[in-house]
Amino acid sequence: MMGGQTPILVLKEGTKRDTGRTARDNNIQAAIAVADAVRSTMGPKGMDKMLVDSMGDVTITNDGVTILKEVDVEHPAAKMMVELAKTQDNECGDGTTTAVVLAGELLRQAQDLLDANVHPTIISNGYRMAATEAKKVLKKNAIDITATDDRKVLKRIAKTSMSSKGTASSMEYLGDLAVEAVMSIVEKVGDRTQADIDNIQIIKKQGGSIRDTELIKGIIVDKEAGNAGMPKYIEHPRIALLNQALEIKKTEVDAKIEITDPLGIRGFLDDEEATLKGFVDTLKQAGANVVLCQKGIDDMAFHYLAKNGMFAIARVKKSDLEKLSKATGAEIVNSLKDLTSKQLGTAGALEERKFGKDALTFITGCRNPRAVSILIRGGTEHVIAEAERALHDSLSVVSDVVEDGTYVVGGGASAMEIALALRNFASTVGGREQMAIDAFAKAVEVIPKALAENGGLDPINILIDLRSAHARKQRNAGVDLKTGKVTDMLKLEVIEPMRVGTQAIDSAVDAATMILRIDDVIAAKGISKEDMARAAQAAGGGGGGMGGMGGMPGMM
Ligand code: ADP
Ligand code: MG
Repeated sequence: MMGGQTPILVLKEGTKRDTGRTARDNNIQAAIAVADAVRSTMGPKGMDKMLVDSMGDVTITNDGVTILKEVDVEHPAAKMMVELAKTQDNECGDGTTTAVVLAGELLRQAQDLLDANVHPTIISNGYRMAATEAKKVLKKNAIDITATDDRKVLKRIAKTSMSSKGTASSMEYLGDLAVEAVMSIVEKVGDRTQADIDNIQIIKKQGGSIRDTELIKGIIVDKEAGNAGMPKYIEHPRIALLNQALEIKKTEVDAKIEITDPLGIRGFLDDEEATLKGFVDTLKQAGANVVLCQKGIDDMAFHYLAKNGMFAIARVKKSDLEKLSKATGAEIVNSLKDLTSKQLGTAGALEERKFGKDALTFITGCRNPRAVSILIRGGTEHVIAEAERALHDSLSVVSDVVEDGTYVVGGGASAMEIALALRNFASTVGGREQMAIDAFAKAVEVIPKALAENGGLDPINILIDLRSAHARKQRNAGVDLKTGKVTDMLKLEVIEPMRVGTQAIDSAVDAATMILRIDDVIAAKGISKEDMARAAQAAGGGGGGMGGMGGMPGMM
């Protein structure tokens, strides 16, 4: 000030800025906090979290990505961890907790290096080198499935992914179901095997128990027939898919029809009836006995359809119609006028089944064998929701392995192999990167450590035992949470897709290095509620404001 120099304002007033070590430490702390929050859910002995959203809705889950999606994190670095979990979920459908916990641990280890004045760029480089090496180790230890339909192995993989979910008691049953479902959608695309689980339709109906969950080889429409007199079962149905309403069009303008004698009313109503009847006749002539319509159907039309022994549902979702079109070979018809028997589709059977108060319509034995659905049942909404998440994970891991053909040993065994290999690798690298590679080795040990902690075991003892077992070339040694001992996890059938491991390494390293390299956080001034109110007032009352100004001199 005294020097006469005015400070140069580059940033808007109110902008918050953290630089250097402060910025980095804040980011690291926030990211570690997120990782620590999900750490206790990891593994078969992980605990659940109960999340209550602002509307009071409750979610009880053990699923990393679900927890992070539900909680409202504020800090930008914490948000990056949430993104990391989402990426992991999109790429493999499992391993979200692992990826987040690993990223958190990489950052925790990095803090020590930063304290020792190792530059963040060096740490990042070291972490990248370590990641490449770690993926090589995974690949070297990976086991190939002997055949794409090795159901026994696939089921074990499904069970491992479910063992940490609340549905663990129904694992056998759901595991079989997941494998069967994925096997029915596998296809060859070029020389690649593809198992896109988006082709598996999931429908939930409260009631019964998880054991009543079933795999339907076909499509389920979450609706019932529009008229109680319609048949409940049709063999080899001839299906019409309509995108035209079976209703009399209401005029856009308010029209008044003046009818002066009773016969006139009769005539008017007869006209309406005739049109609706005409619709039904067209459908019948084309040979259809099932009508699934995206638009509305008049009650009178429903009545005629029922009288003709036909089955019809109105307002079927567009996505359902598209699925039905693929599955039954029916074409979605935009105008009834064009309907011919060629556009109809067919299936083995159509059946309406009652579940409590409402009913669902099943179209089974479809022409396209890749049309499958899973109907999840369960006593409460929460049970169903967790079963859905467990199924999502198991369908994902089975499809990962079917597509890639490789799996690795879980329960911390692969992580310990990586740690061992990285320690050897570090000494060959030299330089300061070596320190980062060593830190990476320490960080991956967080996986068996967290499994042990959550299982109520002493993590230090377990780590010591694990390190010596792996040094003695017992590469499948992991944590057996039942006995509390270090055991061969392959024998215990704890196996998981290699993709889950490689992706977890990739996304954790990406997130950690990104956070490490930030040394300047410039945050725009947050908009407070008062600011918003003021802005709204200014925008809404432009004219009034001027009037107020005009009045000011008078007030003075
Ligand atoms: P994520 O969201 O990362 O999938 P999970 O809670 O599903 O987290 O836990 C996965 C971890 O639990 C994996 O490391 C897996 O190998 C391990 N795991 C699964 N089943 C067992 C088991 N029976 N014994 C020991 N570890 C297991
Ligand atoms: Mg999992």
